[in-house]
Amino acid sequence: MGPTQEKLKAAALTDVGNVRTHNEDSYGLSIDDGVFVVCDGMGGAAGGEIASKIAVSAVKEVLCAGAPNDPERLLRAAVASANERVFSRSEQDQSLHGMGTTLVALLVHSGRAWLAHVGDSRCYRFRGGVLERLTEDHSFVDEQVRLGQMTPAEAAVSPFRNIITRAVGTRDAVEPDITGLAIEPGDMYLLCSDGLTKEVPDGRLAEILGGDGNPERLCGQLVDEAKASGGHDNITVIVVGVG
Ligand code: CA
Repeated sequence: MGPTQEKLKAAALTDVGNVRTHNEDSYGLSIDDGVFVVCDGMGGAAGGEIASKIAVSAVKEVLCAGAPNDPERLLRAAVASANERVFSRSEQDQSLHGMGTTLVALLVHSGRAWLAHVGDSRCYRFRGGVLERLTEDHSFVDEQVRLGQMTPAEAAVSPFRNIITRAVGTRDAVEPDITGLAIEPGDMYLLCSDGLTKEVPDGRLAEILGGDGNPERLCGQLVDEAKASGGHDNITVIVVGVG
């Protein structure tokens, strides 16, 4: 896509956590193209790892090669390509049947940003000391909270908290949520898998993001905090700062 004109700084980090033996999360970024993506795979055998890797590479390929004139359409094409590739791979190999992945992708271009997501990986914006979650989880418990059937505190400890209601690659098509955003100098964006957000409350995320403008150090601090809080799942973070 070429230079985005924004002065961006970014870093990413993934960690297997304290309990799991495999890391099923994947991430990709191209600062020059303003492209950032996190995927959290699921499925038997090696399915989760394969699904998230396929999805990240499909999204990067489409977003980094595409024309910037219609970013929303480009993001839809990127998610559709990820879905097609994961789904067709799972159809070819019985041991990978049913694999899928979450996806959260941020595209920054010409003073704006666009966000696409499927599943319970999240994007947050930290602006003026305030942390705001920009994505609604496609998960059973988040939907119950939105319907007023469950409190956030109940959702956090529910035995159903890992059930996601939308995934990339488990069916022949998927509908992402896509949002356009106005960006401002000083904004910081956090893309992450649920291995961060299930361990670290939003208030603590805000404290960490407010402490240091250096994306590499922030990624390290976020992962360390998730591991110190249990590290039950794989943890992946991308921090993007707008200069
Ligand atoms: Ca996860």
